[in-house]
Formats: sequence, structure tokens, C-alpha cells
Amino acid sequence: MTNWKELEKKYFMRTLVRAPLTIVKGQGSYVWDESGRKYLDFVAGWAVNSLGHCHPAVVEAVKRQVGELIQTSNHYYTLPQLQLAQLLVENSSLNKVFLCNSGAEAAEGAVKLARRYGKLHLNGAYEVITATGSFHGRTLAMVSASGQLKHQQPYTPLPAGFINVAYNSIGAIMEATTSTVCAVMLEPVQGEGGVNVPSPNYLKEVRRWCDEKGIVLILDEIQTGIGRTGSLFAHQIYGIEPDVMTLAKGLGGGLPIGAIMAKDKFSVFTAGEHGSTFGGNPVTCAAAYAALAFIIENDIPRNAYDMGNRLTDGLKRIKERWPALITEIRGKGLLLAVEFSDVIAKELTQKCLENGLLVNDVKPNALRLMPALNITGDEVEEALSLLEMALCRLRSCQG
Ligand SMILES: *Cc1c(COP(=O)(O)O)cnc(C)c1O
Repeated sequence: MTNWKELEKKYFMRTLVRAPLTIVKGQGSYVWDESGRKYLDFVAGWAVNSLGHCHPAVVEAVKRQVGELIQTSNHYYTLPQLQLAQLLVENSSLNKVFLCNSGAEAAEGAVKLARRYGKLHLNGAYEVITATGSFHGRTLAMVSASGQLKHQQPYTPLPAGFINVAYNSIGAIMEATTSTVCAVMLEPVQGEGGVNVPSPNYLKEVRRWCDEKGIVLILDEIQTGIGRTGSLFAHQIYGIEPDVMTLAKGLGGGLPIGAIMAKDKFSVFTAGEHGSTFGGNPVTCAAAYAALAFIIENDIPRNAYDMGNRLTDGLKRIKERWPALITEIRGKGLLLAVEFSDVIAKELTQKCLENGLLVNDVKPNALRLMPALNITGDEVEEALSLLEMALCRLRSCQG
């Protein structure tokens, strides 16, 4: 078998430490390595494969579209992007769509939109309040927006215009709101920062504050959106509507796509002010349309809710058997974390992999679980037993 590790070392920029696994095939909630070994995938391309691997609806849509038209430019009309935009608008509280290629691009575009709004309607206000522990992407500006030192420190000085304040504190947002602030940008549930769920009233209070000040509320639903948290968008759980919303990850059913959505009032770009060469590409849009239509027609968010509850219940039972080691189970829908009293996440992730289960060590002391949204009850039970087996191998089994 090819020595991928050597090839990577020789040819590839070293931006991460990969798991010792080469995936060659995926189907549903499973992937296979070169030797034909099967793994249950609770990472799902980092919450991207909303319908699992190679879902027939997505595969068919992509096949059809690559035989018709692969790329033009946005100088011309193409149908898949308009159909996708219509589907997104008809199923959300927002009115307009801009399509791009990734999450960071969507988040950065949303900030540009808020700055345009600030220039036009808020006396040139340009600063954006964001939260500590947040993650909005890897471009320089989004690194500055993301309130995590580990992403910021290697790249200082950072682009100006972002104020990082404590997450889940309306007081911190109120205190930071000056006349130069044009927007607040938040994840409804923080994903990459460790699956941090805010208190039930937080987003309502932020909504009320933004209304009072006339500033833009941007919700970054790149990870939480498209059913992940048990409703189509996480903000629906919290009973609010954003002015601007970003989507990516689960939107494309595995293909790279991002979207900025806005209410009419905040849709203030004019011709030439923003753009993208690949954004709205026919193939990715056809895939996203097929995935989103399937998700809506089959009420996949409901399955994410039910399976999320089942997974949470199972994890709580495991917690009862490991009371000293497991300190918390948290999350919404199928975006869940298991927190430990010890820094075992990396080792446990490795043990899970050896047992045939892929999970993410989101923090040194926490695992993140984010399987496909159409996962079955049997697959949830299988993951639970594989996880407990891994725990037993790490710390000798109790009881
Ligand atoms: C993953 C993520 C991003 C960045 O998306 P990329 O496609 O990796 O650029 C931004 N915001 C949130 C909330 C994310 O989870």
C-alpha cells in the first residue's frame, strides 16, 4: 500500500496532524480504508455530509449536472443556482441569497454586507462584535473575528474591526456596543469551540438589543444550519430570526458551497460590490438543491432531533457508568459533545478509530459527535457500544 504519510511529508504543507487512516470509499454512515476495513463515521466530513456519504439523491444530481454544464461565470444566468436560492428563501425567514464556496467566505461576505449597511445607514459604523470561543473561518479577517487565541496569535497584527466578547453574556455585548459597531455575529451553538450551548434566552436578548440599537444580527449557521441541531436552522429553536445568516458545511451534501442570506432590508450590496468566480457553480448548486430538497421533503431535521435524543440518552447511560471520568453531555440535535475530567480526548479518539468508530477530539478533554443527519437508531446504538468499548480499552472497564 502507498505510504501516504511519506508522500504528505514530501509534498504537502503541514497545517494539521492527520489521523492514521486513509479513506477510499464512503456509503451512508460508513467509510472504508484501503484494506477494506469499515468505520462508522461520526465526523461526517466535519458536519458536512448531512445525508451521509454518496447519498443517491446527491450522486444523481451531480452526475446529471456534470454532463450538462460544469461552470460558466456569474456573468450569465444558470438555473441550478436560481433553483437553490428559491428553495433556501422559501424555507427560511430570509429573502435574498449570495452563493460562494466555503464557510469562511460566507462569514467574511456577511461582514462585508454589515459594513455596507453601516456605511449606508449607521454613520459609517464598521465594527462587529463576536464571541470568545467562536469560529468563523480561516481567512485573516475571520481569524480576527473568531475569538480564539490559537487561531489569532500566529498571524498578528490582525485586521481591525472585530471586538471579541464573552459568549452567552448579553451584558458583554451591551457593554461593547458603541456608535462604531454595525453588527453582532454569533453561532447559535458554538461548534468548533467545543459545542457550547447558550442559555435559552441569550439569543432572544441579543435579538432585542440589536433591534433597539438598529445594528445587524448575523447568525453563523455554517455548522448548526441545514438540520444539524434538530430543526432546519438552529435559530428556530431559540425563537428568533437573524437579519443575516451564513450557511456552508451541510448545505452541499458533501460538495463545497457557502451562502449568505439576508432579509430584504439588509440586502444592501449593489452591482459590482461583491462577487465570486466559482460561487453559484452549477454542479455544487445542483448537489445542494438535491440535498436540501431531500432534507426538507423527508423531514431529516426531525430525524436529527430524534436520533440526537437517542444518542444523548445513550451517552448519559455511559456517563452513569463512568461518573468520575465523564463530566458533561451537551449539544443540540446531532451536534453533541462529551466532556471528560481528564485530557483523554486524543487517546480516546485513537482507541475509537481502532475499534471502527470515527469521532473528533474537539478539545483536549472533549469529543464532538456529528454523524450524518439521516443516521438510523441501529447506527446510534452501534456507535454507543463502540465508544464504550474504547473507554474500556483506555481505562479498564468498571462494573
Ligand atoms: C466550519 C465553520 C466555518 C468555516 O467554514 P470553512 O468552509 O472551513 O471555511 C465558519 N463558521 C462556522 C460556525 C464553522 O463551523
